[in-house]
Amino acid sequence: MCGIVAYVGNKQAYPILIKGLKRLEYRGYDSAGIALFNDEINIYKKKGKVANLEEYTEDKNISGHIGMGHTRWATHGKPDDTNAHPHKSGNSDLAIIHNGIIENYAPLKEALINEGHVFETETDTEVLIHLIEELQKRDNLSIEEATRLALTKVIGAFAIVVMDKKDPGKIVAARKASPLVIGIGDGEFYIASDATPIVEYTNQVVYLKNEEIAVLTNTGEFSLKTISNIKQTPSIQELDLKIEELEKGGYDYFMLKEIHEQPKTIADGMRGRLSAEESWIRLGGLEEFENRITKAKRLIFVACGTSWHSGMIAEYLIEEYARINVEVEYASEFRYRNPVLDEKDVVIAISQSGETADTLAALEMAKEKGALTYGIVNVVGSSIARLTDAGSYIHAGPEIGVASTKAFTGQVTLLTMMALSLAHKKGTLPKSDYSRLLAEFENVPVKIEKLLKSCDEQCKFIADKIASASNALYLGRGLNFPVALEGALKLKEISYIHAEGYPAAEMKHGPIALIDENMPVIVTASNMSSYEKIISNIQEVKARKGYVIAIVPEGEKEIKKTADHIIEIPETEEIFTPLLTVIPLQLLSYYIAIIRGCNVDQPRNLAKSVTVE
Ligand code: GLU
Repeated sequence: MCGIVAYVGNKQAYPILIKGLKRLEYRGYDSAGIALFNDEINIYKKKGKVANLEEYTEDKNISGHIGMGHTRWATHGKPDDTNAHPHKSGNSDLAIIHNGIIENYAPLKEALINEGHVFETETDTEVLIHLIEELQKRDNLSIEEATRLALTKVIGAFAIVVMDKKDPGKIVAARKASPLVIGIGDGEFYIASDATPIVEYTNQVVYLKNEEIAVLTNTGEFSLKTISNIKQTPSIQELDLKIEELEKGGYDYFMLKEIHEQPKTIADGMRGRLSAEESWIRLGGLEEFENRITKAKRLIFVACGTSWHSGMIAEYLIEEYARINVEVEYASEFRYRNPVLDEKDVVIAISQSGETADTLAALEMAKEKGALTYGIVNVVGSSIARLTDAGSYIHAGPEIGVASTKAFTGQVTLLTMMALSLAHKKGTLPKSDYSRLLAEFENVPVKIEKLLKSCDEQCKFIADKIASASNALYLGRGLNFPVALEGALKLKEISYIHAEGYPAAEMKHGPIALIDENMPVIVTASNMSSYEKIISNIQEVKARKGYVIAIVPEGEKEIKKTADHIIEIPETEEIFTPLLTVIPLQLLSYYIAIIRGCNVDQPRNLAKSVTVE
């Protein structure tokens, strides 16, 4: 949620900030603003996209070598010019940008009002900058000390950057729960929510740890301590990120680019981890704990959104092949439910960003209760990757489109490898089946490549037929039930059509009442183990005049006779079908959203990395 970027050094800050904000816009985009120091702190902010801000600043004084920018995802106060960040202190000397939520802002605000503070905005953030001002004034403190003290008094999550007009060569940055990265240049620093605004200037970065506060100056000084005032040494890491990965590469939208990247990202996720020829799977993070995991009482997957759907696929696969008891939980519910957990449990978190607030909190709780924790994330060095006892990256590369595509298939690829590896280790999967599945697994990227070509025009055609629908139903069985959920989520997210995913057999316990000729029903009918059953479900829909689009295996004959449209997927082992059936569902949502004129990469009200609860 929200993007932060800041610069201190000798260059002009404005172009760095605007470009950085555009890179971060996927994180939040209801308003944007910048603050630049040039004798005064000049603040410009505007409702809407970064482009609006850019236009607004065309005739403004934008010079300054120190500055900060913010793209907001509102939590407290409507998205408008006033509530946009940066926010000023009462005396206008200080400015702040903030990602997160100050949960105790109300009592703090009341106390500050009693001290005579006047607030201009509805945000929680403005309370924090007034608190810093109050502490600074009361004891004549430096900006870093006043900020540090203020942070000891707030409850919640934050990544903040603070500037002080009275101390203009300096930027203070701190974080708790929300991420912050510092790029180290030549006598200059770049600060951002993730590395994307930094990568073209330097590959030397420091990921701020939880509850750390940094002071960065235009003379190249970098000091670091904890919010509880213990000095720290910054640990510098090398960034492994290429600028091309952050560009659209000729596609109209990042989402379309990311859909088409999947043959490569899936192959990248398998590289060095799977050899069909030598019949092995080696997941670095897993090996050390494989013994404990195969003997675990339960594996509990905690996740949100699309990652939760991947977790459900893992449940089917691990129970089927490795015969280990699996549960899948919404992180937000799990963490507040006081679940029964102990050291015989393994809690596995799935998150693209590795920063999802609820998932992080669920992991912290699991750790406290003694469970082994494992992280499956995309963003290298993210909070979940650092917090867990072990884990595996999915290696999908930066995912910028808000609707997840390649991260989903990356997660499913990793989880499928995990299921097969555990099954092999436990001896629950005959060696010959293991070798056969591994050989087919290696073919999956090529099959996806073929599918992307064969179904593209068809998806466009079908999208045109159903783009004006107000509702849609997605059905699937077994492994393809979570895929149906994912298909429905994609459609909701980017085209704003109400869509529901259901187990095909559950349809008759409710949703069947909604079916008429205006209801598109998308059926993922690729699993042969329940083929007859799904044919019956399709008949039930057709009997009620539903408009059926079925995803079927190549050469399928029966469903073809009944469905209004079929999309064929290349033949494969059932275990791998989710990786294929989801592809036409992604493309269908994409084309429907385009027809409806929606902004595919930045759907309304959503943000990519959900760092608030
Ligand atoms: N809570 C702050 C606000 O509503 C920051 C939200 C964000 O992370 O963008 O302004």
